[in-house]
Amino acid sequence: HLYTKDEVRQMVKDEDIRFLRVMFTDLLGTIKSVDLPVSQLDKLMDNKIMFDGSSIDGFVRIEESDMYLYPDMSTWLVFPWGADHGKVARVICSVHMTDGTPFSGDPRNNLKRVIKEMQKMGFNSFNIGPEPEFFLFKTDDNGNPTTKVNDSENYFDMEPADIGEDCRRDIVLALEKMGFDVEAAHHEVAPGQHEVDFKYSNALEAADNIQTFKLVVKTIAKKYGLHATFMPKPLSGINGSGMHLNMSLFTQDGKNAFYDENDKNQLSETAYHFLGGLMKHARSYTAIVNPIVNSYKRLVPGYEAPVYVAWSTSNRSPLVRIPNDRGMGTRLELRSADPAANPYLAIAAVLEAGLDGLRNNLPPVHNVDENIYDMTVKERKNKGIVNLPDTLHSALKDLADDEVIKSSMGEHLYQSFEEAKTREYDAYRAHVSDWERQRYMEQY
Ligand code: GLU
Ligand code: MG
Ligand code: MG
Repeated sequence: HLYTKDEVRQMVKDEDIRFLRVMFTDLLGTIKSVDLPVSQLDKLMDNKIMFDGSSIDGFVRIEESDMYLYPDMSTWLVFPWGADHGKVARVICSVHMTDGTPFSGDPRNNLKRVIKEMQKMGFNSFNIGPEPEFFLFKTDDNGNPTTKVNDSENYFDMEPADIGEDCRRDIVLALEKMGFDVEAAHHEVAPGQHEVDFKYSNALEAADNIQTFKLVVKTIAKKYGLHATFMPKPLSGINGSGMHLNMSLFTQDGKNAFYDENDKNQLSETAYHFLGGLMKHARSYTAIVNPIVNSYKRLVPGYEAPVYVAWSTSNRSPLVRIPNDRGMGTRLELRSADPAANPYLAIAAVLEAGLDGLRNNLPPVHNVDENIYDMTVKERKNKGIVNLPDTLHSALKDLADDEVIKSSMGEHLYQSFEEAKTREYDAYRAHVSDWERQRYMEQY
């Protein structure tokens, strides 16, 4: 709901709001926020809140650093915690230049741009149902995270006295108070690992929701003395955390464009071409949906994360799975994405890949219903199945060669992304780890 200024003023009065938290997201997916006393409400609603863009990752240089925050009043909500010092309402903003134009280095503005492209192609919305997974770790006496999980449970397990369980339930309650439609919350396969699924929404709202979700999870976990992390692979030897993206395109008249009852899989031409785009560009959008060094430690065989570029209507080993639902629920589930991804950039990238499939009638190649983990290298080669990139470095190289996926970010964001990620990989490469010393110190 897009509140009018008067409605907002009334809500602030009725709910006795004392602070306004204005939020946006930087290049790396980190939420940035400024707290304003409620006396600044009119200034905020008049798009007059200025900040220094040069201190934000991936934004601008010092010479051009004044930027403005334009609040998107449809994202207005009240935090259900911290009422001791007065209630806090938050609103998500987009970043604008001094002349009023939207700043192209703002990932949220960029997603809006790609959504407009999609709308020009005749669709109404790109719907995303995210499945973010995370770990809860114990903290030490100083409140720093340890590597000890707080339970030894398993998928769908439930033990009455588990504080992880209580914490997760509190997370769900907080989300519901903030208007989230939570569909499921459960323990995941690894000890200490959890998943909370909320209802799909259009791309922009879904990206906003993912950011809010992370904030809620971390805030509530802290209350329980736990540290919540969305790091993709915090512990070796057990499953990592993914953020599967369920996606579908809806038409102007509210129909799911991926559904066709007459097809053998009940999938439309649109679905097949979109899938073709997801297959074709998989290696290059990987840099965006799996953006950190650690992401690639999750994309290895044996832990329910995908390793190969293939799709299936049944199997869970490929990159894209097509869950059983049909009709309005028809969707493609991208299983590679992880919660370290900047959701605005990730969703723009997969949308652009799919739209490219539609523009060029790309075929939905690489349908594999066997378990690909069990195939030999030769069998995979015969079927033309390639691997996902095995390092951030390799993913960045594929991205650099893919004009379509680069265009999903635009010039400014791509340049900043490329620079930041190259630096990140170089720093990693220069580090000598315990694993290496244990393996080589005595042998050589
Ligand atoms: N945790 C698994 C992953 O890394 C996914 C488990 C699932 O299927 O939900 O992607
Ligand atoms: Mg899961
Ligand atoms: Mg899933």
